[in-house]
Amino acid sequence: PELQNQIAAGEVVERPSSVLKELVENALDAGATRIRIQIRDGGQSCIRVSDNGSGIFEDQLELAVTRHATSKLQNLSDLQHINSFGFRGEALPSIASVSRFRIASARHDGDGGVLEVLHGRILRQDKTAMPKGTDVEINDLFSNVPARLKFLKKPGTETRKCAELVARIALANPHVDFELVNADRTVHRFLAAQDLTQRLAAIWPQEVVESLHGVDFKDGELSVHGLVGDPAMAQGRPDRILVYVNARPVQDKTILSAIREAYRGRILGKEYPQAVIFLEIPPDEVDVNVHPAKTEVRFQDDGAIFRIIRRAVLQTLERNVH
Ligand code: ADP
Ligand code: MG
Repeated sequence: PELQNQIAAGEVVERPSSVLKELVENALDAGATRIRIQIRDGGQSCIRVSDNGSGIFEDQLELAVTRHATSKLQNLSDLQHINSFGFRGEALPSIASVSRFRIASARHDGDGGVLEVLHGRILRQDKTAMPKGTDVEINDLFSNVPARLKFLKKPGTETRKCAELVARIALANPHVDFELVNADRTVHRFLAAQDLTQRLAAIWPQEVVESLHGVDFKDGELSVHGLVGDPAMAQGRPDRILVYVNARPVQDKTILSAIREAYRGRILGKEYPQAVIFLEIPPDEVDVNVHPAKTEVRFQDDGAIFRIIRRAVLQTLERNVH
């Protein structure tokens, strides 16, 4: 099983930011309203995520680091309508197989458990007193996989990827308080009271944020919301297009080309689209189990998705941008 975990780690955990993605999604799946993230050296020496979510029963901690032990799917048919970020049960075992790993968790204030793993082998399991929630700390990522280690970019670059990831997830979860600290310095703080526009203001230039107009569109069971910008206000800036499907950040060609299509004719020489688009779709009409990292999705009806996104963006542009 150790070998399998390490092979899976190659697909799930490419770099520190992919570890961070898995940990933050677990915190969100656990219903956390406050997520605190600390990293050091671009995440290579330390990634730590603490949340105030549901916690894990002490006697289930070992299961949580066991391959394909997910608490989020009961049977095969659940795979047809996934409403959690995780469902494959391979992130924690994969991460724990290539690092020094510690998970502490409590279902109730005061009584919890802690488990320490080194390169997939359990070192210690104990009781611990902590507030309700979960605290996962990863040290020396890839210390037993020199090939992976070599492939990491400079700490500054890895830190930037982590910061982008946290912002990207924070945009889709405006009711959750996020804090990212890099080597004791706060990089991001998104307060629970800040909406999408306020959160974007922390990462996008002010004149771009000010040029954004709301998208709000519904067609049957599909709905699209978000913000799209006036290209004239983003002269000379690269395009920024962030796409989410059921709150999951994704890279999707269909949605991207629909957005670009809606902007056609409005874009002059050095102007670019700026957009944040959230698509809500019944879970059984989209397959998120395409790749272990889950950044790609497959739609049952690509054409319908293309049309609704184009219409949604076009409607906002026609009303607001001339
Ligand atoms: P998955 O998310 O696909 O189920 P993971 O390997 O990411 O698999 O996590 C394994 C299990 O550990 C989860 O199913 C969940 O029960 C538990 N778990 C992990 N992180 C947390 C957390 N932050 N809060 C509560 N439970 C957690
Ligand atoms: Mg998970």
